[in-house]
Amino acid sequence: MIYFLFICDICFNPKGIIFAKTNCKNKNMITIYNLTFNAFQVNTYIIADEKKNCIIIDAACFDTHEQQALRDFIAKHELKPQIQIDTHPHIDHILGNAFVKETYDIPLYAHKAGDPFFLNANSYAKPYGWKLENVVMPDKYVEQDEVITVGDISLKVLYTPGHVDGSICLYNSENHFVIVGDVLFNDSIGRTDLPTGDYDLLIKSIKEQLFTLPEDTEVYPGHGPKTSISKEIRENPFINF
Ligand SMILES: [Zn+2]
Repeated sequence: MIYFLFICDICFNPKGIIFAKTNCKNKNMITIYNLTFNAFQVNTYIIADEKKNCIIIDAACFDTHEQQALRDFIAKHELKPQIQIDTHPHIDHILGNAFVKETYDIPLYAHKAGDPFFLNANSYAKPYGWKLENVVMPDKYVEQDEVITVGDISLKVLYTPGHVDGSICLYNSENHFVIVGDVLFNDSIGRTDLPTGDYDLLIKSIKEQLFTLPEDTEVYPGHGPKTSISKEIRENPFINF
């Protein structure tokens, strides 16, 4: 199938949040919105179909200013959140889970292997001076190869441990993109020095689950700019063949 992929808009909004919008255009047009939150500059992605049904991935908004920015953004684009998904349970990626759940009354999807991190979220938050009033546990556990479907959006779950237990990537084969959390970055890979980190396992996850995807797959990481499978196969300095 022939389709067109183009970047239609990158701007810097007045609230200081970088907003990049990429349209992957074919029969089902999917829009990927990106807002960046908290001191760790986590990429929160909102994946929407043409009917405005959307999935919020890694709700990382921290304070009331960031929560308001997310709410305003969703209202401005008339989006209709249906579910939220965490790529992994690190504290910087889950800060906004409770806000999203309370605001939109939608379930949280995540991998069960991340449960110890959700259960102990406040002990992981403490060194950063953060405190979560409410910690949301996953409402639904997802598994390797499971396909999450919301409206016209389909995301296949790839279980990719190594950065932390419970890490998943979310692959859309129709529009050729993958959301990778902190598994793979533009010219880098996730750190493996935190609890349950495992360098060899991370490399195995990347090689077996990500580098086997079509090379034109766009890669949207949990921090920093997007990249592609072909670029990382050829240029990533941390992965040797
Ligand atoms: Zn992480």
